Amino acid sequence: MKKILFGIFLAMIFIAGGYSTMAKELDQPFEKGDINPYNKFFTGTTHLNMLVTKDDVFNSSIGNVTFEKGARTNWHKHSGGQILLVTAGEGRYQEKGKDIQILKKGDVVKIPPNVEHWHGASPDSEFAHISIEPNIPNNETTWLEAVSDEQYK
Ligand code: MN
Repeated sequence: MKKILFGIFLAMIFIAGGYSTMAKELDQPFEKGDINPYNKFFTGTTHLNMLVTKDDVFNSSIGNVTFEKGARTNWHKHSGGQILLVTAGEGRYQEKGKDIQILKKGDVVKIPPNVEHWHGASPDSEFAHISIEPNIPNNETTWLEAVSDEQYK
């Protein structure tokens, strides 16, 4: 009997250990989607789920972007501006020449047209935001250099 109880005890430790090492999915309201086809303009891995594609009715492109820990965009700018709605995790946002801002669920970032910036996850947290690109078709994205580890910290 004692041997059986000890066996059950070991099994429970094994199961508990297994659960704790399983990667937890970021809890977010929208589907993560596939690997981001624009990842060459990013550092690290991101996923993209397009929610509203460019069309003539809404003049907006809306997508859910999920960043793995440490992942971030290159420096870039949008000729028609961009709005970010933060949905999960902790992230970072920086405009050229300004301090890095910490982003949390519920934050709204309004990025004026042609302002150079980057956005992404914090080093220790996954991160997700909805990206709204308004003013289509007059909104082109210009991709610039990567955000170095020194700039990102
Ligand atoms: Mn942007």
